[in-house]
Amino acid sequence: MEKFKHIRIPKDGKRITVKNKKLSVPSNPIIPVIEGDGIGRDIMKACRRVVDAAVEKAYKGKKKIAWMDVYAGERAYELYREWLPKETTEAIKTYYVALKGPLTTPIGGGFRSLNVSMRQIMNLYACVRPVRYFKGVGSPVVHPERLNVIIYRENTEDVYAGIEWKKGTGDAKKVIGWLNKTMKTSIRADSGVGIKPISATGTKRLVRKALRYAIDHKKPSVTLVHKGNIMKYTEGAFRDWGYEVATTEFRSKIVTEQELWDKYKGKMPKGKVLVQDRIADSMFQQVLTRSAEYSVIATPNLNGDYLSDACAAQVGGLGMAPGANIGDYIGLFEATHGTAPKYADKDVINPGSLILSAVMMLDYLDWDKAARMIEKAIEKTIEKKTVTYDLHRQMKGARKVGTSEYATQIIKNMR
Ligand code: NAP
Repeated sequence: MEKFKHIRIPKDGKRITVKNKKLSVPSNPIIPVIEGDGIGRDIMKACRRVVDAAVEKAYKGKKKIAWMDVYAGERAYELYREWLPKETTEAIKTYYVALKGPLTTPIGGGFRSLNVSMRQIMNLYACVRPVRYFKGVGSPVVHPERLNVIIYRENTEDVYAGIEWKKGTGDAKKVIGWLNKTMKTSIRADSGVGIKPISATGTKRLVRKALRYAIDHKKPSVTLVHKGNIMKYTEGAFRDWGYEVATTEFRSKIVTEQELWDKYKGKMPKGKVLVQDRIADSMFQQVLTRSAEYSVIATPNLNGDYLSDACAAQVGGLGMAPGANIGDYIGLFEATHGTAPKYADKDVINPGSLILSAVMMLDYLDWDKAARMIEKAIEKTIEKKTVTYDLHRQMKGARKVGTSEYATQIIKNMR
């Protein structure tokens, strides 16, 4: 067993392993958990209670998660004098699947976001955000129930590569000088400059994941979202490499939009996934006006960043939006909001985002019975109009409860 300084390995759990390129999950998997800062303390407690109750109920005590606390953010700083100790990322790499609350990013001192650091250290190249509507939640659109998408957003390139130079610095001057002279560009001398790399490797592994998900879960389509009309060799290449993966690696399982019209007269053959592409700006309209037509979305970093928040806003906001960062095997499941410090330790905040991230985690473990049980219990709790303050202010005649009581109600509503 691995030696850790502050992490205690639970005695009643077993390690998830990889066999034949697949996760092999024991009935008592050890799952590292980062409680998180601020409201992390409230929502993680609530979330663990809900998950434990669902697993217990769904598998009649035959399965149980052995949670293992690992540290990042303020708690890590207290224990290690470091914000992101190496043993935390080592533990997650060793145990493969982890759950995480929000973390404070220390301001100043050139700190990189802990979240971005974790994604890079563990090579979690796909940011996965499902967005669906829960009946009864207030929404700014007329038919929020029509939107049910899962967004696969590239997590390591494009603007997330973070390559840029400040206006007027020697480096900026060097880059501009070289580009203007050698590449015959005409960049103004008083420009800041950034580089937007999009690689075939980064694109293909992301699109491959989205396609695999769509095929395994019998989803109707995968839409590649890009700005290839303007940036041909980055955004446009993303589209081309995406189609290349689809038509070479998943040939028998997919039909492209072009083939749909050329070969199938617009009628989708049964059991196949439609692979199509949309230009980013048009896609923002489409998710509002034709939301039911989209299912799985694969996109470079910045488009995905905007699109996931815009979609989340349609179904009730960030308090309900789950997320995960996934690599080849490692899955880090996390609330998509921040630490909301003004609500910390007040037992008022909505634990929905974290609980739904845990639902994604259960699906990732193939414990879908427990996952569906939680989802249905949340649906029922919201339908009964028992909600936390954020949903309460958007709903007429609802009963406002705190974080822990909301979790208790979800558990009561489990079948
Ligand atoms: P935030 O913590 O997400 O909170 C902004 C607002 O969003 C809250 O005041 C609240 O709005 C609403 N909100 C957030 N979580 C909610 C929940 N669970 N239920 C209901 N409403 C919720 O954003 P921030 O204030 O910009 O950031 C605070 C800290 O979090 C910063 O240190 C930032 O770096 C960090 N952060 C971390 C992550 C992460 O770890 N993944 C992500 C983003 C930010 P109302 O006041 O209107 O109710």
